[in-house]
Amino acid sequence: MQIDVQFIKGVGPRRAETLSHLGINNIKDLLYYFPRDYDDRRNIKKIRYIKPGSKVTVKGKVISKKENRVKRGLSILRVTFSDDTDLVNGVWFNQSYLKKQFKKDQWYILSGELNTQSWRFNKKEMNNPVFEEINSGDTIHTGRVVPIYPLTEGINQKRLRQIIYNALKDYADGIPDILPTYIKEKYEFISLADSLNGLHFPDGRKNYVQARKRLAFEELFLFQLLVLKNKKGITERKGINHKTGSRELNEFLQSLPFSLTGSQQKVWKEIREDMEREIPMQRLLQGDVGAGKTVIAALALIETITNGFQGVFMAPTEILAEQHYQKLNNLLQPLGLKTGLVVGGLKPKERKEIEAKIVNGDIKLIIGTHALFQESISYQKIGLMVIDEQHRFGVEQRYRFLNKGENPDLLIMTATPIPRSLALTLYGDLDISVIDKLPPGRKPVVTTWRKEDSRPQIYKFVRKKLDEGRQAYVVCPLIEPSDEIDAVSARKIWEQLSDNFLQGYKIGLLHSQLKPEEKKKVMDEFRQCKIDVLVATTVIEVGVDVVNASVMVIENAERFGLAQLHQLRGRVGRGNYQSYCILIGNPTTDDGIKRLKVMTETNDGFRIAEEDLKIRGPGEFFGTKQHGLPGFKVASIIKDKKLLEKARQEAGQLIDMQNWEKKYNLLQQRINNRDLKL
Ligand code: ADP
Ligand code: MG
Repeated sequence: MQIDVQFIKGVGPRRAETLSHLGINNIKDLLYYFPRDYDDRRNIKKIRYIKPGSKVTVKGKVISKKENRVKRGLSILRVTFSDDTDLVNGVWFNQSYLKKQFKKDQWYILSGELNTQSWRFNKKEMNNPVFEEINSGDTIHTGRVVPIYPLTEGINQKRLRQIIYNALKDYADGIPDILPTYIKEKYEFISLADSLNGLHFPDGRKNYVQARKRLAFEELFLFQLLVLKNKKGITERKGINHKTGSRELNEFLQSLPFSLTGSQQKVWKEIREDMEREIPMQRLLQGDVGAGKTVIAALALIETITNGFQGVFMAPTEILAEQHYQKLNNLLQPLGLKTGLVVGGLKPKERKEIEAKIVNGDIKLIIGTHALFQESISYQKIGLMVIDEQHRFGVEQRYRFLNKGENPDLLIMTATPIPRSLALTLYGDLDISVIDKLPPGRKPVVTTWRKEDSRPQIYKFVRKKLDEGRQAYVVCPLIEPSDEIDAVSARKIWEQLSDNFLQGYKIGLLHSQLKPEEKKKVMDEFRQCKIDVLVATTVIEVGVDVVNASVMVIENAERFGLAQLHQLRGRVGRGNYQSYCILIGNPTTDDGIKRLKVMTETNDGFRIAEEDLKIRGPGEFFGTKQHGLPGFKVASIIKDKKLLEKARQEAGQLIDMQNWEKKYNLLQQRINNRDLKL
């Protein structure tokens, strides 16, 4: 049975109700309710030497106390303390009940800030200092590193701290330790009880670091164990063992106007070997925009089709599905492979026709959106599913894909460079391949950061490039001018450029409020070089591919996230022309400055992702709450990269052991015991 928190010393039914608002219901909850911060109150100063300006901790004996009623509703309690070097007053407002608590000649520790005003009049006073009576035992609230907890109404720091202190004293030793002994010994971890004590009431930096490390490892290890157990579940399924190296594949490779880069060859080998295995492939293919993922997907699709299966390719939006359909069609048509497109907007008749051809196996490659997984569509025989994902699929969804056929191979492609620590956590049950080099001949985009007053020079440079025959993008955060938001709008810039900086050039305007046919018209004109400069909002972030455009100006660049800036910049530098990205911005925060600096320093999507993760934190990284990250209490996938690798390694070794199931169950049992006994 679990011990209800109300039975802990200092709690009781009413306070238990308050604690439940913090998600604390039993002792385990309480012991795992960790501080959000610490206050170092170790350094006890002689009263004589304290000064205003920062928090100080002193020790003193009560000399006298006095309460004044200044006026109705305001009483001031002044208690004078002495440590034989000087005197200091503790001052409390409207807290008469404290008067009784202070005993004459008794020693106390006080922490707080010295009042500047009274300091000027040669008097030392602290308003509302934290205080604690010095007895024979440890101090809890002063004279040490003190934990600061997230609170809720009805409970204060001191009370909660005392409750947790009591709970640790009485129960920390009794919690079953989960980590296997061999791991504890290998990493020289301190005991679980010491770790819990050390995280709540560290007796110093070293103790805190050890405690944190041990508890973070436990979280990461248990999570990786779960992930790898899932993965093991998949490897026990019977999938398709493709034969690879078909004649069609070689023909296709020879027909390409280029040869695969080393990076592409490496990932293709990894994918091919997976496909040959009977275990269903579960692989993530990462690579920056333009790294050459589609070609790799095409290779895998050709192989599954020549093995007599159907290949399915899913894109996140209709526009991208259509674009992929074009791309893949161009690539595969020469081989005589029949392809079909399934998106939401098909007419019932077209749809019926296509569905019939899918089920009878006429169409070998099916490309589409989520619509591919509607009930009405059944496939003849899926051998490989490629998912080009912009948004993340949960593990459960992936399992559902597996069940759509006879455990087909699965290849997930992503252009969002995900730092390894995040990938291990989000995609821990997938194998990962990375195309880490762009095809040769690409010139890195030269990126600079300028202030607004350099517009004349910036647009002079743009004119020069236009005169050389190139085209340019100008990206703005807003569509129309706004009274509330102090930022440049596309319309305003469009007017400015037309009337002034770029007079005489043809300038187009593109934003999300245009009708679809208007958008298409503008884009077509830009593609056909009838428009020199495209002023746009972030609508151009994905999918736009105009090789002749070699300059991008981003207005109010500080308003965009790092990942977004990188995506935007990816619209230039797509051909052989040297390309330029000019960021106009006046960031006011440290993070804002950091973002623009990173952009000027690197074109490497992975480095940018790492920086972005550091700046924004993992929760924000995907811009959505549905990121599927586990809610670690102690571990941080930013700070604990090394620990995460070790946890992954240990979890992997355990899962690979002969008797792993026995070990896993034992561990599970200990977890259950821990949760139950307390
Ligand atoms: P991704 O899908 O990763 O964004 P693509 O597969 O569309 O990238 O490739 C981008 C462009 O690079 C395409 O025009 C493609 O033909 C070309 N490409 C791909 N691989 C190579 C290579 N090894 N050498 C030269 N060009 C390549
Ligand atoms: Mg296989």
